[in-house]
Amino acid sequence: MNREFRLYNTLTKKVEPLSLIEPGHLRFYSCGPTVYSYAHIGNFRSFLTADLILRTAQALGWKTTYVTNITDVGHLTNDDTIDASGEDRMASALQSSAGERFANVWDLSRHYSAALQSDWQTLNLLEPDVRPRATEHIREQIQTIEHLLSCGAAYQTSSGVYFSVESFADYGKLSGNKAAESLELAVRDVVVDPEKKDPRDFALWKKDADHLMQWHSPWGWGFPGWHIECSVMAQAYLGDEIDLHAGGEDLIFPHHECEIAQSEALTGRPFSRHWAHTRFLQVEGQKMSKRLGNFLTVKDLVHERGVPPLAVRLALISGQYRKPFNFTFATLRDSERHVKRFQEAFQLAKEAHDGGAEGTSTITETLKNRRQAVLNALLDDLNTPAAIAQALGGVRTILQSRNQLGVHAYSFMNQVSDLLGIVHRNTGPQNQELTMALGIGRPEGNTPENDPHQDSRIEELIQARTVAREARDFAAADKIRDELLKMNIVIEDSAGGTSWHKKSNI
Ligand SMILES: [Zn+2]
Repeated sequence: MNREFRLYNTLTKKVEPLSLIEPGHLRFYSCGPTVYSYAHIGNFRSFLTADLILRTAQALGWKTTYVTNITDVGHLTNDDTIDASGEDRMASALQSSAGERFANVWDLSRHYSAALQSDWQTLNLLEPDVRPRATEHIREQIQTIEHLLSCGAAYQTSSGVYFSVESFADYGKLSGNKAAESLELAVRDVVVDPEKKDPRDFALWKKDADHLMQWHSPWGWGFPGWHIECSVMAQAYLGDEIDLHAGGEDLIFPHHECEIAQSEALTGRPFSRHWAHTRFLQVEGQKMSKRLGNFLTVKDLVHERGVPPLAVRLALISGQYRKPFNFTFATLRDSERHVKRFQEAFQLAKEAHDGGAEGTSTITETLKNRRQAVLNALLDDLNTPAAIAQALGGVRTILQSRNQLGVHAYSFMNQVSDLLGIVHRNTGPQNQELTMALGIGRPEGNTPENDPHQDSRIEELIQARTVAREARDFAAADKIRDELLKMNIVIEDSAGGTSWHKKSNI
């Protein structure tokens, strides 16, 4: 039986078995969004790749520790070039017309974080073990920058602290971007700090006493660079060496290249063994852009166009993650039809199971093979089109064999649901982003009682519930209310909005 989980590794440019540092335990970091606007479906395609990797690993019986962050400071408008410049995306979003409704940048961050978590649940993604925020790890980032300075991998100028690319011989090993000339080309349109020693050097800390989000550091007031955030959060929750790091293909350079340089300069050890990157998504054959009016979010599709959430999920995973993907409304309609068939088959299988039917051995055998084929397809570099085709084959068998179904049909449907997440929504206790949002799982072990951020997290959960209610997703809204109740927080809705108080212990 095939038990190797083979994935393309951007670092080695080969499809190879995931080899884990600790056998049976996947330590996995996936870059989350910058919460300056609603995440679009291209972002979610990348989050879904991570979700499928997680589900496949769990089907192999592996333990998983999955961290995906929220970037809420430091990601600049020109951060896709090496000499990150421009404005902080959060600050410029606040100054845009869409930002006018927010009182301040923290309010904006809370709103889009809540929307992200609501979309995450809508598309039935597994919750991470931890969803850290960059702004909650400023102290560790400052400490890391101090270490990089003391080991000669970084230096200070009047505008900030920079990583010295020359000090790290392996720079470029992920993206292949090594030559100073091509990097200079990449930065020609942006303002370059003339005090930088090498055009390739990138900012770890930006000095800016006027910035909307600023912290005090040994180098004065300012804020961290985007790349250092992920190095620090990955290390904080997963250790110096991790098994797998993932993100969209646009993150290969400079973001992930810079993460490798920082982390490896710091520890002297390989940062991540495997790197998985999801290719871009187009909509109806065109690049998604606000200007073309084809910029789609989960909210647009589910809440405005009324597409069933699981159909959006199925459409987004219908193309293999490593191939460019053309999202079309025809695919969406097919996916809607397929999800209906999955649900019909689930219902039939459940009835057979509830009625205690044995099922014929031929059907049992067919479905066993199909289930194995679904898993094998995922183990083969997440071949989702093949996995979905095998799952649909099993569904066809179930729909055509109503009277011959037994307990195996039900377990087939549940296993397919666990693997692909397209049959029914996750249930059970794994609403971990909620516990995470309340500070559980952080290395310092903050408890809700002594956590100074608790109030803002409660507000964030209440906002997530408001977003869910506005979207008429009452199941999600109720889940959040129950979760708050478990934390002894009672909420009350009134015409003026939602208020909360702590339940008295008496
Ligand atoms: Zn990142």
